[in-house]
Amino acid sequence: MSQVNPSLQHLTLVIGWGISSLIAVLAPAAFYWVSYQSLQSVLASQTELTAGSVNGIILSNPKMWRFEEIRLSELLERQTYDKIPQTSQILGTAGEVLAKSSATVPAPAAVHARFIHDAGVVVGRIEVSRSLRPLLQRTAIVAFFSIITGSILFFVFRKLPLRAIATAFRTLEVSEKRYRSLYETMKEGMALHRVDFDGNGDFSSLTVIDANPSCAAMFGSGLTRFIGNDSFAMFGDTFREYLSEMLKVLDQGTSISFELHMPDTGNYYDVQAFSPDRGLIATLFEDITESRKSEQQIQKMAYFDTLTGLPNRALFYDRINQAIALANRDKANPAVLFLDMDHFKNINDTLGHSTGDQLLIEVAQRLSQHIRSCDTLARLGGDEFVVVITQLGKQLDATCFAQKLIDSFLAPFHIMGNELHITVSIGIALFPNDGTTAETLIKHADMAMYSSKETGRNAYNFFSPVMNQKALMRMENETGLRHALERNEFFIELQPIICARTRTVVAAEALVRWNHPTRGRVPPVEFISLAEETGLILPLGEWVLRTVCSTMKAWNDAGLPPIRYCVNVSSRQIEQQNFTEIVRTVLRETGANAAQLEIELTESCLVTNIDQNISDVFGMREWGIAIAIDDFGTGYSSLGYIKTLPIDHIKIDRSFVTDISSNVQDQAIVEAIIAMSQKLGIRNIAEGVETCEQLEFLQGQGCNEIQGYYFHRPLPPDDFEKLLRTQGELPAG
Ligand code: C2E
Ligand code: CA
Ligand code: CA
Repeated sequence: MSQVNPSLQHLTLVIGWGISSLIAVLAPAAFYWVSYQSLQSVLASQTELTAGSVNGIILSNPKMWRFEEIRLSELLERQTYDKIPQTSQILGTAGEVLAKSSATVPAPAAVHARFIHDAGVVVGRIEVSRSLRPLLQRTAIVAFFSIITGSILFFVFRKLPLRAIATAFRTLEVSEKRYRSLYETMKEGMALHRVDFDGNGDFSSLTVIDANPSCAAMFGSGLTRFIGNDSFAMFGDTFREYLSEMLKVLDQGTSISFELHMPDTGNYYDVQAFSPDRGLIATLFEDITESRKSEQQIQKMAYFDTLTGLPNRALFYDRINQAIALANRDKANPAVLFLDMDHFKNINDTLGHSTGDQLLIEVAQRLSQHIRSCDTLARLGGDEFVVVITQLGKQLDATCFAQKLIDSFLAPFHIMGNELHITVSIGIALFPNDGTTAETLIKHADMAMYSSKETGRNAYNFFSPVMNQKALMRMENETGLRHALERNEFFIELQPIICARTRTVVAAEALVRWNHPTRGRVPPVEFISLAEETGLILPLGEWVLRTVCSTMKAWNDAGLPPIRYCVNVSSRQIEQQNFTEIVRTVLRETGANAAQLEIELTESCLVTNIDQNISDVFGMREWGIAIAIDDFGTGYSSLGYIKTLPIDHIKIDRSFVTDISSNVQDQAIVEAIIAMSQKLGIRNIAEGVETCEQLEFLQGQGCNEIQGYYFHRPLPPDDFEKLLRTQGELPAG
């Protein structure tokens, strides 16, 4: 009970006392008053009756009635009623008693008096009195019961409600305590705002009037600084955007939720607003920054390329599908462009992946400058980029656009101290002629891009159904290639390499060919890269080496001149852990002379492979094997390796030789390569010599060896053998 508010206790005490005292006093008083009134009326009628009888006596004896004491007394005796003690007396005008009944009435008594008249003149008065005792006794009994009833009521009025109120208070207090601690410790922030309106009933301000510690912590402000402050100053401009909706909850009693973003902190909150009372708005804040950020991260990872930040394949498919849907509606013509950088692998291989990655980032930036906001540029992976143009029209024609993209590569890229000249090949597929789904449009743009590569790169091509056939062929090739080795469909040709000074054959380069069951003779450009991609180059390379070594051994045994036999080795073969092991085994098993074997490596081979593998390959020089660098000048590598690696031959790439008679730049390059190789003591071989002018220029520069159609095309082994025989024995080199 002590928990009950003292003023409430007092109030219940007063009410209890009031009611019970009222009952204890009023009930007997009322009883007494009513009983007294009826007693009075009884006395009144008694007096009237007696007066009537006395008047009869007065009439019969007007002069002497007052002396008829006996008659009067008898009359009075007769008038006594009930068992209630009553007494009556007749008094004269001077108050003298004329007659009196015999009964006595114990005090106190109620008296009723009436004058008696004779011919209108007062001649005396009658007094009737009854004892009040019985009435008082009954009133005492009533008072007794009233007090008991009052006391009971007092208890009922005071104790029972107090108990109920105390229980209610206790429950309220407990629940309030519970809510307060919940409010103070909950991790959600909670703020209470007061809404103020101006004289016209328009909104004037929103003020924070309470906030829990979490709220203060969330918004990085002390509780005291929070309370009394303008809500918008505390919760920012996004909060203001929802003002009209929050005002609605005031009237409608509903709740709303919205997302709040605080640009200064970058935090996100889930806000729920409701009105707990008139003119008040409560807001509940849940910090969803983490989940929002990871959502964004996931979204980014799922839809964007991490390296360039461009949309990825998944998002790109989505965008094409959107473009297709719009196209069907608006009768527009979307187009898909497939871009693939030329010789990107070389850059990756020779300058390393970080340079390659940096280049991709810059390429993405350069391409982005030409993309309209309605179109999408994406990176599919590697050096493959795609563009979807939502609408081809007068402002944007696919040809011009493709050319613009190609031209954007004209200026060199400056990456990590390297100046890189890069070109791009593009394929274009148009909706709906070249495909009506994202898959086919991308596939056909890819095929068109392949054909750009085949026709010399740095160009664009539109898709044509023929390309589909070519792609089919590539697939056929892949399966065919897998069986070619076991079916013995490969063969080699040998191309003579001529000494520039003596004009005799000093070496033979082994070039592999494929005798396809239906297509006939297939040149290596059509299957070597496929063999490299599929890993088939490993058994194929070993087969070439073995074939060359066996031929060398047979011809040596037959007494032919001991010339060099050059074998092309792909980077994939060097990557193999046991490459030198294979060479050793083949040499041993065929009995070939290691000193007559030359391995042709490309520049990229030197950079992509781990140093250990390369030094193992160069270690084979101890067995007598020579090493040549093939296609010299086309790689992107720095020339550092030339100083450090013991190279035997440099093969000047055909691309520098082709126009050597007319192109001064090619002349300068070839001159420089020859001069450099001479200074370093490395012998040089010019590839692709087809004309007399080329030969003369090269000889003029001091070129050591010549390979090319001018002297010989690659020959079948039989023809080569004949050539060697006619040439007779000559010293190698
Ligand atoms: P490569 O190593 O640069 O071989 C020289 C290529 O130039 C050969 O083409 C040859 O036929 C061609 N050629 C030689 N002289 C002339 C000329 O005067 N004019 C013209 N236009 N071309 C000339 P081929 O046989 O088509 O081989 C192409 C490439 O295939 C080779 O280039 C080589 O990289 C690769 N290859 C050939 N055989 C093998 C092999 O057994 N293993 C590996 N890994 N690659 C091979
Ligand atoms: Ca070669
Ligand atoms: Ca070559």
